[in-house]
Formats: sequence, structure tokens, C-alpha cells
Amino acid sequence: MIAAANVPNARSVIERTFSWTGPLSCHSMVAQIMLRYGFRREEAAPYVRVALTEGDTWTLRVTAGDAVIAAATALTSRAAAGRALQDALGRLTGQKLGAWGYLIGMRPTKVLHPFFAQDDYAQAAERFLRDARVAPAERQLLQEVGALQREYVATDWRDVARKVAVYIGIPLCPSHCSYCSFPARIAAPDEDWERLTADLCRDVERAGALMRRHGLTADSVYYGGGTPTVLPAPYFARLLHTVADALPLPEEYTVEAGRPDTIDAAKLQAMVRYGVTRISINPQTLQDELLARIHRAHSAADVGRIYQAVRALPFQSVNMDLIAGLPGQTVEDMRANIRTLTAWRPENITVHTLALKRHSPLAAASAGELPSAAATAQMQREAGETLRAAGYLPYYVYRQKYMTADLANVGYTLPGYICRYNIQMIAERMHILGIGPGATNKVLKNEAFQFARCYFPWDADVYHRRQEEYLRQRDELFAGLASKGERV
Ligand code: SF4
Repeated sequence: MIAAANVPNARSVIERTFSWTGPLSCHSMVAQIMLRYGFRREEAAPYVRVALTEGDTWTLRVTAGDAVIAAATALTSRAAAGRALQDALGRLTGQKLGAWGYLIGMRPTKVLHPFFAQDDYAQAAERFLRDARVAPAERQLLQEVGALQREYVATDWRDVARKVAVYIGIPLCPSHCSYCSFPARIAAPDEDWERLTADLCRDVERAGALMRRHGLTADSVYYGGGTPTVLPAPYFARLLHTVADALPLPEEYTVEAGRPDTIDAAKLQAMVRYGVTRISINPQTLQDELLARIHRAHSAADVGRIYQAVRALPFQSVNMDLIAGLPGQTVEDMRANIRTLTAWRPENITVHTLALKRHSPLAAASAGELPSAAATAQMQREAGETLRAAGYLPYYVYRQKYMTADLANVGYTLPGYICRYNIQMIAERMHILGIGPGATNKVLKNEAFQFARCYFPWDADVYHRRQEEYLRQRDELFAGLASKGERV
């Protein structure tokens, strides 16, 4: 390895452009590492050039301008090559490893999967995390989450060969939250609900036929969006009725109701009638002034009223989402949110961290109003401490691009109420059967838990016009299952 003294421009302003050559399988790893160190790809005249070679062992060569800043041979794995690259970039930029150490993925619990089948799982995972230089608090979080998830995450793909997590997407919202970068659009005053509902029902019926054809069972069903409850009550009920008729309903059936301003008694009754077991109501925060600032068209009192209405009905569990780091939010606001939620005691509470693209118009518009990284970190830390003290356990964690500092989104649960769908989404160890505009279908294709995928378009008009073509693609994707992976 090249000595730090030879690194050009260390700790000074450098041009953060790069190009790279190497196996396709490393593309995502290299892209994530370069993004972490603030580099953008530039093929024509890059400042940094990365070359990775795979053979019996791995070789890494990194140049910056005319200087070689890393030349490592006999690296024993792809991960070791990734760490060597991070070390080189750290020397070049002066940037230190953060709380997640060498872990770069948005789903840090995935690094625990290789240890799940081992008897000495906790010790083996701890050794790995220490070696990856993960900070003590993050190690503890990952260990807590891993201990809960181990029971639900497959270690052998043959065990989930005939199971799917079903996702039904409805990418419309009543208004646009100011922080949202999701490709959901605002429902039009003259939205064609009849056409969208008919399209969704046709998709559901075809998905049911596909499941029967391949002998698939549903591990969970989850309505996401957008805001699924934006569908007016009669259309919403018709969709739920079709799902109950067409799909084998699992024990866990979630509707992401999301915005309290889209929930009414008729929709709640429809959910009860057609077997929904879990409902998500997302306050995000409980101060009216902050809710107005982020363009949520409901008050904190609306959230409380809907929560009480939901608790009077026989749902097994309720999730509530909060966000730390909203414009104008204080640590005391978050303390108050957590106090209220722990008093209400929903079975699941998810504490997100605001993720805003740094140069987006929204970030610019909120400049000066966003809490500091330290304040947002304090909100997350105190939320975790208070929730644990109140009996909640962290059960899933994921990170996002453009998230404040080294933070994460953390889902907490009362014992016995984990959401299987959330675990499977993050673990990526189960087929996903996607329904509706914007849905993704993912079929496991080998024992390494890699997926083949097909995507449905977000645009409801395109989804309508070309639905038959997309449904055929999904049929073909799942047809590959017939010859794959089953334990015999
Ligand atoms: S409800 Fe969710 S998807 Fe819709 S705009 Fe708000 S954050 Fe985005």
C-alpha cells in the first residue's frame, strides 16, 4: 500500500471526479463508496481512476492525477478491496470513517446474514462489526435488530422458494409533503378512480392466478404508495374485496393509511371486513406549526382522533411514523412526540431521519431552518433510549442517501408485533410480487439471493395503456420459478 505521505492534495480542495474499471458485480459497491467520499463519475477527464481486477485474489489500483495512491494485490475478497479503496480515499480527502465504519450499504443488517445460520451467531457478528470499525452504538443496534430478525430471514433460498411478500402500490397523495422525493403525484380533482380501481383489480386477479399456478403462499400483504387510502371509500372497498377473493390472505396484512386526512369510518370498516390486520398512521410530528410547514393537511388532533377510532376496532397492530430533522423541529418537539406515542402505545413506532438531497430546491428553501446534524442525532438517540425504556425493541433499520450525518431509519416494536413485510423488504431474501403502478417484482434466481426484476411504471396512464404487456412480463418473470430453488 502507498504511504500516506505520498498522497497528493491530502486534506486540501481536490477535484472530486472519478472513473473506474472492474467487474460489473462491483459497480454498486464502487459507486456507493465514491458517493460517500463526494466523488461524481466523469469519464472524459477524471481526477481519480479506480481499477479493480478479480482473479484468485483481488487487485486494486487507484491513481489521483499522476500519482498512484493505492496499489494493493492479493486482497482476499471483494469486501477487502472495498475497504482498501475507502482507506485510499480517506487518505486523499482527509475524510474519516463514520459511525458505520466500512459499511456502505443502505441496508446495514444485510452484513449479518452470513452469520445467521451459525450457532455462535452473536459472537461472529460482533467480530465482523468490530473489524468493520462500526461504532459501539451502531454495533449494539445492529446486534439487537439481528437477534430479532434471525428467526424471519431465510438462510437457504430453498426455504422461501414458494413464498412471496405481496406489495400493492397506489402512487397518489392528497397533497405533496415538502420533504418528499418519492415519485407519487397529487390526485387530480377529476381523477379517474373508476379506471384506476379497475386496473388494480385486474392486476390483483392476475397475481392471484399466478400464485395458484406456481403454488405460492403470501408471507405478508402490504399496501404502500403514495397514500393507498386516497382512494375514495367505495373504490377502496372494491379493491380490498377483490384482494380478499383473489389472494390467499396471510396473517399479516398491512394498509399504509399514512395521512390521517385520508382515513374515514367507511374505509376503516372496509379494512376490518376484508381482513386487514395492521394499519399505519403517520403523524411525522405532532406540532401543528411544523405539520403546516411540511405541507401536511392535517393537525396533531386529527392524528389523535384517528388513532382512537382505530383502537376501537380489532386491528392486531398499529404503526406510527415520526421524522427527526424536519425544518424548524427542536429536540423538545421530538421528546414530546415520543412521550405522546409511548402513552398511546401503538405496537410499532418507526423513527425516520429526514433525507433531503443537499442541493435540492427544498433543501435550499429550508436552509437555516433545518436542525443541526447534532440536534437531529440527539433526537434519534433520545427516541431510541426512551422507546427501549418503554419496552420497544428495534427490529429493522435502513439508511438512505442524503440522510443527515451518520443516522438511520429505525423501526421499533413491542415484543411479538414485528412487521414481517418490513423485515423482508430490508433483508431482500424473499420474492416480491408487485401489484399496481410503480410496483417492483423481484424473483430470487440463485442461492446467493440475487434477484431478477421487472418494474411497473409509476405513471397511472402508462400503467393503464400498457397493462397487459407489464402483466405478461411479470408472468414470464415468475415462470422461471418453476425450475428453481425448491427443496426436494
Ligand atoms: S404522503 Fe408520503 S408519498 Fe405522499 S407526498 Fe407525503 S411523504 Fe410523499
